[in-house]
Amino acid sequence: MVKVGVIGLQGDVEEHIWAAKKALENLGVSGEVIWLKKPGQLEGISAIIIPGGESTTISRLMVKNGLFEPVKKLGEEGLPIMGTCAGLIMLSREVIGATPEQKFLGLLDVKTNRNAYGRQVDSFEAPIKLAFSDEPFTGVFIRAPRIVELLSEGVKPIAWLGDRVVGVEQDNIIGLEFHPELTDDTRVHEYFLKKAL
Ligand code: GLN
Repeated sequence: MVKVGVIGLQGDVEEHIWAAKKALENLGVSGEVIWLKKPGQLEGISAIIIPGGESTTISRLMVKNGLFEPVKKLGEEGLPIMGTCAGLIMLSREVIGATPEQKFLGLLDVKTNRNAYGRQVDSFEAPIKLAFSDEPFTGVFIRAPRIVELLSEGVKPIAWLGDRVVGVEQDNIIGLEFHPELTDDTRVHEYFLKKAL
């Protein structure tokens, strides 16, 4: 029985819960998807998703609720963790444009520019290419961070907008600039959750 936790302190939590449930169903796997708020809920967890939202707030609340250190440790031990948008910022090793109080899990060897897209194009949708599927995927970008540098050879691109990398994986960790939870296409969630099976 798979237990997926969506960090549920701020951001688009419900959308990720829906997408993860649907993905498990499509994979034919029985499991539960929980709204993760407290460290006690990490017992028996198989995978974690960090949603989009506002990364300073998510960082602050993860520290306040005692989730920051245990989630970091689980990620270091190999637990599958996926972060989208603000979640990508949380996973990054280096962040350009962070606020001084902001803390990062540092589980993904990338440098991310926090508010990279200018105001004119602060939100857009565009077809992106996935490494694991022939069909294009609708990338929803909302004041998206930008992956500006891959900092180790262990980081592999898995999504591209034109020739620019917009999604990466490093063993058990996935970071995406866009929001797969805001489409009804669960291919990315399925790819991620296979890591937990
Ligand atoms: N730019 C936002 C931040 O810094 C992230 C935006 C998003 O998650 N849609 O947190």
